[in-house]
Amino acid sequence: MIITIAGFKGGVGKTTSAIHFAAYLQKLAPTVLVDGDPNRSATTWARHNKLPFKVVDERSAAKHVRNYEHIVIDTKARPEEEDLKALAEGCDVLIIPTKPDTLSLDALRLTTSTLRSIGATNYRVLLTIVPPKPSRDGEEAYAALVRADYPVFSTLIRRFKAFEDAATEGVPVYALTGNKNAQEGWSDYAEAGKEILV
Ligand code: ADP
Repeated sequence: MIITIAGFKGGVGKTTSAIHFAAYLQKLAPTVLVDGDPNRSATTWARHNKLPFKVVDERSAAKHVRNYEHIVIDTKARPEEEDLKALAEGCDVLIIPTKPDTLSLDALRLTTSTLRSIGATNYRVLLTIVPPKPSRDGEEAYAALVRADYPVFSTLIRRFKAFEDAATEGVPVYALTGNKNAQEGWSDYAEAGKEILV
């Protein structure tokens, strides 16, 4: 399976999602993460060699990917229309993470209308960095997206500082020790991962 993660703006959890979907898929079958983001954030996350899967540069990806069952591709933020078309055509599922705030949701609408206009149907929206209660931003954004007929993951990725710590330590969030939210953060991505495979 080829899963591409695209963000219409930076800071929406694109790389964090790429890392954790790759970690989830690696538990099922050999998985490689192709780093196509010029910021090379996924490569930086892998710098201590503590990830359970390989991260390769997109420029050398062709040679590596043939050995793997699942390929997760992290891409540059703010893709142009042409980029989106190529990205959607080049994968099985295009995942678009978004935060549940108004500005992010507006930007999301632009991206999805572009996808619709080019006839792409293989995309899914993932709500990420969802603030804890009493905020209702996550559930309200989810309800609005469902009402507007968006293909949206029913699992919301909650906001936990553990994700930042995991990036600093160069591990998937489940490998953090002594962090009380690490397993909850992992369970969000594992649940969302199940949704990709159904
Ligand atoms: P992008 O690739 O879209 O720029 P990142 O995955 O790098 O986004 O995330 C942007 C920032 O938000 C980083 O500091 C990251 O640690 C943080 N972050 C991402 N997902 C979460 C989350 N679920 N909870 C808390 N912080 C998060």
